[in-house]
Amino acid sequence: MTSEEVSMELQGQKALITGASRGIGAAIALELAKGGAEVALLARSLEGLEGSAAAIREAGGTAHCFAADVGDGVQFEAAIGQAHKQMGRLDILVNNAGITRDRLIIQMKDDDWDQVMQVNLRSAFVACKAAAKIMLRQKSGRIIQISSVIGVIGNAGQSNYAASKAGTIGLVKSLAKELASRSITVNAVAPGYVETDMTSVLPDKVREQILSQIPLGRIGAAGDIAPLVRFLAGPGSSYITGQVFHVDGGMVT
Ligand code: NDP
Repeated sequence: MTSEEVSMELQGQKALITGASRGIGAAIALELAKGGAEVALLARSLEGLEGSAAAIREAGGTAHCFAADVGDGVQFEAAIGQAHKQMGRLDILVNNAGITRDRLIIQMKDDDWDQVMQVNLRSAFVACKAAAKIMLRQKSGRIIQISSVIGVIGNAGQSNYAASKAGTIGLVKSLAKELASRSITVNAVAPGYVETDMTSVLPDKVREQILSQIPLGRIGAAGDIAPLVRFLAGPGSSYITGQVFHVDGGMVT
């Protein structure tokens, strides 16, 4: 086997990555493209996706951009349909788009709860349903859900976010069982704290507190998450399904 074959294990595969305009989603999209996959990038604004698409094309990959709000089921499903039509297949779905609306429970507004559930959890249902219909016909597929360490251990001030991320784990475990007979694997990745726009708003005191909980002694980078997603999308993971993988510098053991 040549080194080129080793590095292009996703050649011919078509992938859709949500929240691909920056942060973890952008790193995942680039990594899958480096593996040879043709990628559909989705976020709310096309302008936001341009940078990710340019980086992929510069690396020799093929990227298509789709604007949709994953919290709007009708809009999101239509965008998945467009991406499928444009690429002709859908082999890999990465549900990555997510938001936080942090507040202590007594101050949490109904809208803080509903928004987070809509964008983080309901969107996963919408995407998995649409992708499953396609993948069942193809008799193959990979669904990778970006959950969070917070969905496993909880966090004061993040009850809505933790519940949404824990919900995605239940979804993953159920769909792994439901779709396995058609060689479709469904797994979750639970990142710890990763340096992105989402975490850039944390005050220094909170960052120090977080750092003290990370045995490997550093906040993660988006590039720490992407290689695992590439592995889960590739041929080496065909016997792995229904699992939650922690990439958190040792926070959860
Ligand atoms: P960022 O805030 O940096 O990026 C979020 C991405 O999601 C952007 O591309 C954004 O694009 C897109 N997005 C947000 N809302 C919507 C929406 N309603 N519809 C479509 N796209 C949307 O987040 P991260 O990269 O930090 O996080 C990515 C995922 O990883 C999230 O699910 C997050 O919960 C999870 N995670 C992050 C951790 C961290 O420490 N950063 C830790 C654990 C998990 P646009 O605004 O243009 O729509």
